[in-house]
Amino acid sequence: MSNPQPFEVFGIRYARHEGWPIPVYFERTSGRDTMVMDFFCWVAIGPERTVFIDTGFDADEGRFRGHEFLRCPADTLSELGADTTRATDLVLTHLHYDHAGNLDKFPSATLHLQEKEIAFVTGRRMNTRNFRRAYQSDHIELVLRAIYDRRATLYDGDSEITPGLSIHRVGGHTMGMQVVRVFTKRGWVALASDAIHYYEELERSVPWTNAVDIDEMIHAHDILRDIAESTDHIVAAHDPKVLRQYPAPTADLEGFAVRLDVEPRAG
Ligand SMILES: [Zn+2]
Repeated sequence: MSNPQPFEVFGIRYARHEGWPIPVYFERTSGRDTMVMDFFCWVAIGPERTVFIDTGFDADEGRFRGHEFLRCPADTLSELGADTTRATDLVLTHLHYDHAGNLDKFPSATLHLQEKEIAFVTGRRMNTRNFRRAYQSDHIELVLRAIYDRRATLYDGDSEITPGLSIHRVGGHTMGMQVVRVFTKRGWVALASDAIHYYEELERSVPWTNAVDIDEMIHAHDILRDIAESTDHIVAAHDPKVLRQYPAPTADLEGFAVRLDVEPRAG
């Protein structure tokens, strides 16, 4: 079978947080007890379809959570030629506050998400602060409205969105956590989203602190290795390494966007 048409893939860095406490399963090398967290969303631009993947949060949410907000992701996306106001397809990997904000900037997009995530965020576990606090009810409201407006496709498992781009439910971090596999000129890239926050999770087979199912979270690493061309083709969601390893698409976007369809440099 011939390969699909390659997508151009970009990571959009819209916020950061210095001084994030080292998670419980991570190694405390050289006496560090905090680290830097970057916040990304992504876009895959194909010859026929542009698929947005997650939406970040806005300046107010950043203030509320104590993060440094760098730039509205929709502005960076439109500089890359991906106008969110005309978006047709938006994959939400999960509904945590840093992945599902700004939905008002995607008024016509069809949302692609796992039914289990909706069940989780509207179910009894939201009585538990530890699970609830990673969500923002304003975001969930807009997702529910999109479902009622018939602008959402809910999945139970894996699916091809368009030739060269598919979603894969992995669970673990949240009930409906899904990752994206996308064909590029360097082969199949896996956008892990929060299935791995930092590469250390994959390298040492350790889970992130916030999880609904640690066994599924570790199994997600196997799925990522399976769907990506190589481990160099797996992209973590919050690791500052991403910015060091991949080039900016233009000088103006230095620090705000990276090209993920080229080989990473050592970093
Ligand atoms: Zn998350």
